[in-house]
Amino acid sequence: MATKVKIPEAAQKQQEPERYSPDDSEYFRKLILERREKIKKGLSKFAEVSRSTVQEYSGNHSTYSLHMADQGTDAQEREKTFMFASREGRYLKYLDRALSMIDAGTYGYCESCGQLIQKKRLELVPTSRLCVACKLKLEQQNPK
Ligand SMILES: [Zn+2]
Repeated sequence: MATKVKIPEAAQKQQEPERYSPDDSEYFRKLILERREKIKKGLSKFAEVSRSTVQEYSGNHSTYSLHMADQGTDAQEREKTFMFASREGRYLKYLDRALSMIDAGTYGYCESCGQLIQKKRLELVPTSRLCVACKLKLEQQNPK
C-alpha cells in the first residue's frame, strides 16, 4: 500500500531535524524483522523442548520417584531455559517496539538528547534507544 506521507522538497532539505530516509527506515525494518524471526524460531524450539519434558514427567508416573533425585539439577536446567526464554521474550518486545517506532517515524532518535543515533550503532543493536554518547554517560553514572 502506498503511504501518503508527503514531505515537501524544501522542508526535506532543511537542516533540521535530521532524519533517516524512508529507504533507511525500510532497511532497519528488514533488519529488525530478520532478528525477530530468528528469535521466534529459537523460542518455538524452546517451547517444543519444554513440552516434551512435561510429557515425559506426566506420561510415566511409575518412574517419577526416580526422577525426584534429579530434581535439583532439573530445576536448575529449567531455570536456565526459563531465563533464556524470558530474555529472548524481552528482546522480542524491544524489537516490536522498534518496529512500531519505525511506523510512527520516531525510530532512530536518542531518547535522551534527541539526536539521530548512528546508523552503524543501529545496525549492530537495532533496539538502541540511546546514542553512544548518552549511553556512555549513563554507564558512567550507574557503574555496575
Ligand atoms: Zn543521546
